[in-house]
Amino acid sequence: MKNLVILGGGYGGMKILSELLPNNLPEDVKITLVDRVPYHCLKTEYYALAAGTISDKEVRVDFPEHPQLTVKYGEVISIEPQDKKVLMKDDESISYDDLIIGLGCEDKYHNVPGADQFTYSIQSIEKSRKTYSALNNLGPGSVVGIVGAGLSGVELASELSESRSDLNIKLFDRGKHILSAFPDRLSKYVENWFVKHNVEIINNSNITRVEENTLYNNDKPIKCDVIVWTAGIQANKVVQNMDTEKDRSGRLVITPRHHLPNDGNIFILGDCASLPHAPSAQLAEGQAVQIVEVLRKRWNGEEPPAEFPPIKLKGVLGSLGKKQGFGMMADRAITGRVARLLKSGILWLYKFHNG
Ligand SMILES: Cc1cc2nc3c(=O)[nH]c(=O)nc-3n(C[C@H](O)[C@H](O)[C@H](O)COP(=O)(O)OP(=O)(O)OC[C@H]3O[C@@H](n4cnc5c(N)ncnc54)[C@H](O)[C@@H]3O)c2cc1C
Repeated sequence: MKNLVILGGGYGGMKILSELLPNNLPEDVKITLVDRVPYHCLKTEYYALAAGTISDKEVRVDFPEHPQLTVKYGEVISIEPQDKKVLMKDDESISYDDLIIGLGCEDKYHNVPGADQFTYSIQSIEKSRKTYSALNNLGPGSVVGIVGAGLSGVELASELSESRSDLNIKLFDRGKHILSAFPDRLSKYVENWFVKHNVEIINNSNITRVEENTLYNNDKPIKCDVIVWTAGIQANKVVQNMDTEKDRSGRLVITPRHHLPNDGNIFILGDCASLPHAPSAQLAEGQAVQIVEVLRKRWNGEEPPAEFPPIKLKGVLGSLGKKQGFGMMADRAITGRVARLLKSGILWLYKFHNG
């Protein structure tokens, strides 16, 4: 039996499984899925978990069951391509014939001293739970500093303001306007929502240092009871430690067939891969479909396509609490209730197909 090992049961890893199971896996191939968490986690909802507006159970989906699938629970610590092995924290190793690395990303602190030590995170389920606990144990009038007003910072700030209207939330962002990757009209809509909901936006900020309960903005100290970092991501450190070409965010450079340039048996998926679009769940899923095509062609003894058409992305949707939202669909900015309903509908469909 050949062993296809998938590291990470995130959006990319789950899509690989749903493309191959139940009927598309050759009889002589088995799959070993490895994750440090015993279920698939809906990372796109971590902001709501941290804010305390949804329960832990709502962000979990069971991994599929299949006679050719083994799920291995544990922490991956390194990849040894020369031995075709994955090393686990418990000293075990897993041999592979083909390997798909979809371990996601972690926070990037841009060398800001203290940021890794004194800020909370929503980049993993374990960290989101700690953030939930810190935020929801705060007394009335406490100050929460959220660093970074991209999609996840905005979603967290808005959800938290609805969840805990007694808190004093400050949203720090480098730009003149928040959501700088979006059109002006959309940024202004979101800024107005924050004004109405008493979230203070601090534009043109530059966080130079973080200490326990203190954020330094342009070297000026600001007391915060809890600080959450949402100001950048980089590839998972297991991937960053690999001896192969990377981009500035530590993501691995790949060929048009999504494998490493010097190793056709190691595929890089999702937030770990250097791709021409911003990392997203949609992108990871689009890539997974193409990786499965490469594998299936090879298993059938055929030549895989030399390259694939660009992955089509449907757009981006963000929430502003439970009733309003914003986003870009087919290059058009949408705001308000419709955007929020669309986002909820997509989540419902995802759970329906994977649950
Ligand atoms: C708050 C927030 C909102 C977002 N909203 C959107 C959105 O609306 N739309 C969108 O498309 N994207 C969104 N994203 C981005 C999206 O979540 C990621 O791009 C997506 O999860 C990437 O998928 P992935 O398969 O690469 O990794 P992930 O889904 O992160 O999966 C990685 C898996 O690897 C496991 N893992 C990691 N390290 C190890 C290890 N050492 N050992 C064992 N297992 C390990 C993890 O447990 C996890 O299961 C959002 C992200 C955040 C944080």
